[in-house]
Amino acid sequence: MFEALTERLERAFSRLRGRGKLRERDVDEALREVRLALLEADVSVEVVRDFLARIRERAVGQEVLESLTPAQQVVKIVYEELVRLMGEAREDVRWAKSPPTVVFLVGLQGTGKTTTAAKLAYHFLREGRSPLLVGADVYRPAAREQLETLGAKAGVPVYTRHDVDDAVRIAREGVARAREEGRDVVLVDTAGRLHVDEELMAELERMKAELAPHEILFTLDAMAGQDAVRVAREFHGRLALTGVVVTKLDGDSRGGAVLSVRAVTGAPVKFVAVGEKLEDLEPFYPDRMAQRILG
Ligand code: GDP
Repeated sequence: MFEALTERLERAFSRLRGRGKLRERDVDEALREVRLALLEADVSVEVVRDFLARIRERAVGQEVLESLTPAQQVVKIVYEELVRLMGEAREDVRWAKSPPTVVFLVGLQGTGKTTTAAKLAYHFLREGRSPLLVGADVYRPAAREQLETLGAKAGVPVYTRHDVDDAVRIAREGVARAREEGRDVVLVDTAGRLHVDEELMAELERMKAELAPHEILFTLDAMAGQDAVRVAREFHGRLALTGVVVTKLDGDSRGGAVLSVRAVTGAPVKFVAVGEKLEDLEPFYPDRMAQRILG
């Protein structure tokens, strides 16, 4: 998933290895390559700048330059700063004190909202919870049918209506159904558009005001890189996202979005999706991701 990035970082560090002591100039040369590697991975320029400034500050200190293993120290610093960039520790789902926990999936069309709703439901089911899926994407043709099919595959019931096009009403009825049936988590698939538009945002705001969700998760298509991160920031400004699910990390995405999104929006990544199948969803751990990136 990060092959290109991993390879370039490895190349940057290999310049430092095999040398005795490092000079400031050696570190700067290596960091120039780290910079290029991150930009090529489509990490935003501002994020790269701040990230490198932090690393440089730590890496050109006496402790590193005079150490017997300076290259390892630099790699360690990069690792620690990657973890920090992605949010330090895992952020879990905000479970409701009195169930059901209400989770909205929001994002642009085609980013993997419907698929992610089903994957999350499947994930929670396997954790021993009793999820309900709610199909409230009333705009995309066949989104509700798609959710019903995925729900059947996952073994999770789906509440939706084909006879009304009022998304807020479907979501409200879905949450009521979950409560009646004693389900502990409700995943609401909301409508996405090709662009952020006023009507979409207003509908989501109404839905949020009425249902007070515990989680509003944004599906961010890793293939769309920095554009997707900008869209996430717009959604965050309107809805106060509680988390992000980075989707399609399995494709030939360059991975930059997973590095930038926390710094740019402030919203933590909570899961990543790495394929089309129901089980292709992983809880996000900044330290494990940093290890993967460093190879
Ligand atoms: P929505 O319009 O946001 O609800 O998007 P969908 O859930 O319908 O997903 C759009 C397409 O992306 C579908 O073909 C999904 O199978 C695919 N997709 C979703 N998540 C992933 C992922 O993590 N990896 C890959 N490779 N494809 C995905």
